[in-house]
Amino acid sequence: MHEMSLAEGVLDLIEKNAAEQGFARVLGVHLEIGELAGVDIDAMRFSFDAVTSGTLAAEATLDIRAVPGEAWCMSCCHGVSISRRGDPCPDCGSYQLQVTGGNDMMLKSLEVE
Ligand SMILES: [Zn+2]
Repeated sequence: MHEMSLAEGVLDLIEKNAAEQGFARVLGVHLEIGELAGVDIDAMRFSFDAVTSGTLAAEATLDIRAVPGEAWCMSCCHGVSISRRGDPCPDCGSYQLQVTGGNDMMLKSLEVE
């Protein structure tokens, strides 16, 4: 389950921000996760709770926004939305797609005090 190491990465970022900005408690964490990032959102919530236990983010609520997958179809020469890597173009059925968005995870913002 790679969500555990992703969650640890998020916690590292939070702790780095806390050291730089001097906050002691995190109340909310907003993440954006691309549909093509291969991240299971339920597993991510579980892992986040596990790794933040006993840290400054122990009571933080985790808000996750799913970002739709985007790809460029080389057959129709336009951008399309896909929900899974390896899906064909919804317009022409071609598999010659290049993923252009929704393939990563980003820490968007923190609510702190
Ligand atoms: Zn197409």
